[in-house]
Amino acid sequence: MHKSKKLKPKNILLILIIAFTLISIVFLHINDVNNRSKLSPPAISESGNIPPSDDIINHVKEHAVNTDSNENPKDHNLEKPPINHGKNGFDASIIQDFLLKNKIKSDGKKIAFLTFDDGPSLEVTPRILKTLNENSIKATFFVVGNQLDAHPESRKLLMDEYMQGNSIGNHTYSHNPDKLYPKKNVDAKFFIEDLEKNNTTLKSVLGDNFHTRIIRFPGGHRTWNKTAEVDHILKKQGYIFLDWNAMTSDAEGNPKTKQELINRYKHTFKDQDKLVILMHDSEDKSTTADALPDIINDLKSKGYEFETLT
Ligand SMILES: [Zn+2]
Repeated sequence: MHKSKKLKPKNILLILIIAFTLISIVFLHINDVNNRSKLSPPAISESGNIPPSDDIINHVKEHAVNTDSNENPKDHNLEKPPINHGKNGFDASIIQDFLLKNKIKSDGKKIAFLTFDDGPSLEVTPRILKTLNENSIKATFFVVGNQLDAHPESRKLLMDEYMQGNSIGNHTYSHNPDKLYPKKNVDAKFFIEDLEKNNTTLKSVLGDNFHTRIIRFPGGHRTWNKTAEVDHILKKQGYIFLDWNAMTSDAEGNPKTKQELINRYKHTFKDQDKLVILMHDSEDKSTTADALPDIINDLKSKGYEFETLT
């Protein structure tokens, strides 16, 4: 009795040390599991979207709520899913170079990249997705964030595009040429902010782990003046901008019939072995959905394969 009383404080200390150690281990384990579930890439990341550079991640974070000065650099690295061009993904930097140099031929392998801008839209996007699905083809969608906010029902369509294995690109949030290109000169600051705003919107639908490095300038990069500053920033941040080398002209002038779109596509087709076709899946482009099966059939008959840009 007397002996056990004397040892009691030591026992208590020992019990406290053991309890503290166990609690610490459990806490660290829970923390680790939480971090993993929060940061691991989604199962659908094979669709081909790859992360931008550290610069853009930092930049986006700076412009979000407040700078997180307690950020653990180890966690930061975990945020980057591995680079994966996906099953049908093609390295967009090669195509950017191909387009900028106005090449017609490269390695001779015929690849067509179907690209759709300005969506998603409730009427046209589902029809485009249906045609792509029926042909087992994947495409690249350059999405405008303000459409997602103006028509919340379209958010599901963006998820459908992504889940179907298409590549998702950034086409700015506002798509407002007056602000992006005042007097036809690129406003680099507004452009980058608008791009980041669109990234945030895309993530709000596709999850925080979604990243895309491919962008398309509204109206096309080659249309605007004084691009040097924005080009420098985009390159530094790991973005790849992509114009096109064939088109249906579905966004030019008056609405066009299905046949007019097909004729225009055939007119711009120059037997390029890497064909980037500009089309639109915005609200009033139902004839684009009408023409798509014929365009796909024409390209198949000419020996083209279809891939996404990532
Ligand atoms: Zn556009």
